[in-house]
Amino acid sequence: MSQIGWNLEQTYTELPELFYSHVEPNPVKDPQLVFLNGNLAQQLGLEPYVLQSDEGVQQLAGNVLPEGADPIAQAYGGHQFGNFTMLGDGRAHLLGEHVLSDGSRYDIQLKGAGATPYSRGGDGRAALGPMLREYMISEALHGLGVPTNRSLAVTITGEAIQRDAPEIGAVLTRVANSHIRVGTFQYARQFGSYDDLKALADYALERHFTGYEEADNRYLFLLHEVVKRQAKTISQWQLVGFVHGVMNTDNMTISGESIDYGPCAFMNTYNQETVFSSIDFYGRYKYGNQPKIAAWNLARFAETLLLLIGDEDDETLRKAEGVVHQFFDYYHDEWMKGMRLKLGLQTSQADDETLIDELLTLMKENEADFTNTFRDLTLGKFDESTWFGTEDFKAWYQKWQSRLESEEATKEQIEAVMKRANPSVIPRNHQVEAAIQAADEEGDLSVMDDLLRVLADPYAYSEAQEAYVDPPEESDDDYVTYCGT
Ligand code: AMP
Ligand code: MG
Ligand code: MG
Repeated sequence: MSQIGWNLEQTYTELPELFYSHVEPNPVKDPQLVFLNGNLAQQLGLEPYVLQSDEGVQQLAGNVLPEGADPIAQAYGGHQFGNFTMLGDGRAHLLGEHVLSDGSRYDIQLKGAGATPYSRGGDGRAALGPMLREYMISEALHGLGVPTNRSLAVTITGEAIQRDAPEIGAVLTRVANSHIRVGTFQYARQFGSYDDLKALADYALERHFTGYEEADNRYLFLLHEVVKRQAKTISQWQLVGFVHGVMNTDNMTISGESIDYGPCAFMNTYNQETVFSSIDFYGRYKYGNQPKIAAWNLARFAETLLLLIGDEDDETLRKAEGVVHQFFDYYHDEWMKGMRLKLGLQTSQADDETLIDELLTLMKENEADFTNTFRDLTLGKFDESTWFGTEDFKAWYQKWQSRLESEEATKEQIEAVMKRANPSVIPRNHQVEAAIQAADEEGDLSVMDDLLRVLADPYAYSEAQEAYVDPPEESDDDYVTYCGT
C-alpha cells in the first residue's frame, strides 16, 4: 500500500482480450489540482493530504501510475440515438479497482488522460468546463441519494486543447462500482464468441449481484436484476427532475449507477417535454421519455443475453420480453412510492395516483417550478399571489389535507418525511453555469465550492441553502446544454 492508501487490483483483464486494450495515460505538462473530494477520499480510505501532494497530483493527472495500477481502455459499442456503433473508452484509462477492507471494489478511471485505440479521430483529452460539470452533477446526484458514479478529483493539465476555441485541458478521476455498460454486452454479442459473452455475463454477475447461484437461469436472473436496478435509478431521476440528456445504451450501466454526464441538466419548470441537449433535435431523451428509453435500452440488453438464457428461439425471446416488460411495473411502483413520500404519505390508498396526477396537471398548467412546488408543500408556505392563490389549487390542497388525515403520523412526522423526500436545493442550470464560468474563466473556485457544499446535503433545509433555491429570473426553457468534450 502506498502512503496515499491505494489498494489497486485489475480484474477486468481476466476477461478475454477483446474487451480491453492495455494503454498508459499520456503524460501532461504541468498538472495542478483543482478540486479534490475529501469526503469521498476518506470513504475510500485514501489520505486527502497525500493526494494533494505532488506525488498524488502526478497520479491524478496520469503522469505517474499508482502502485498496483494496470491501465486499460475498455471496449464497448452502443446505440447512439438509436443507431448501433462501435465505441470504447476514447479518452479514459481504467487504472484498476480500489479494494476496501470490506471487499467492496471501485473502478478508478482517469477521464481525459489521453488517446486510446478507441479514440477514432478524438484527441483523448477533456476540457475543464465539462469535467467540472460532471463533477458537480455526479456529486449533486449522490447527495440527492440517486445511484451514480462519483468524482474524486479534477486536475488541469497545463496544456491547452483545441475545441471551438482553445480550452484548458483537464483530467477527471471517476470512481464507479464498475464501467460495464449495456453497450459492453452489445459489443460482446456483436464481435465476440459465445464464450466471450458468457465470460462477461459471469463477470458482471460476480461483481454486482448475489443469489444467482440459486437461480433457475442465471442469465435471466441477471436481466431481471438489471431491470430492477434501472427502474429504481430512473424513477429517482424523475422524482428530482433530472434529465440525463444522452441515454445511449453505452451510457447505461449494469450496476444501475447513473453515468456519463454530458448535456444533462435539472428541470426548473415542470414539463414532461423538457429537453436541454443541443443535439437532441427530436426530444428522444426528454424528461418524459426517460422511462421508455430505459426500457428500450433494456430490450437491447435482453437481446444480447438470449444466447445465454436459452437459445435465440421464440420461447427464450418471450421469457426475456416478459422480464423487460416488468420494468414498467417496477418503475411505476418506485415512482409511486417516491411521489407518495413527496406528499408525506407513508401508506397507500387507491386514489393516491389521482391525487398525484391532479397536482402534476396543475403544476404543468401553471408552469410551476418542480422542486420549489414540493419545497413549498413541505414548508406549508404558499404565496397567494401565485397559482397557490387559485381556486383549483385550494381545492386540491383540501383533498390532500383530508388524505393526510387518514395517516397515523403526526404533523411533525409528516413534515420530516417530506423533508427527506423533497430536496430544498438542486443544481440549477444558471448556478452550475456560473460556477463553471468563475472557475474556467477567472480561476475562481469559490463559487463551485460553495455550491458543492449545499448540494452535499440537499435535504438539510438549512439557512445556507436559501441563496440557492430560486429558479433563474427568466425562464430557462431555451437553456441549451452541449455534449461538452
Ligand atoms: P460520451 O459522449 O462521453 O458518452 O462519449 C461517446 C464516445 O466518444 C466514447 O467512446 C468516448 O470515449 C468518445 N470520446 C468523446 N470525446 C472524446 C475525445 N476528446 N477523444 C477521444 N474520444 C472521445
Ligand atoms: Mg485487447
Ligand atoms: Mg459515454
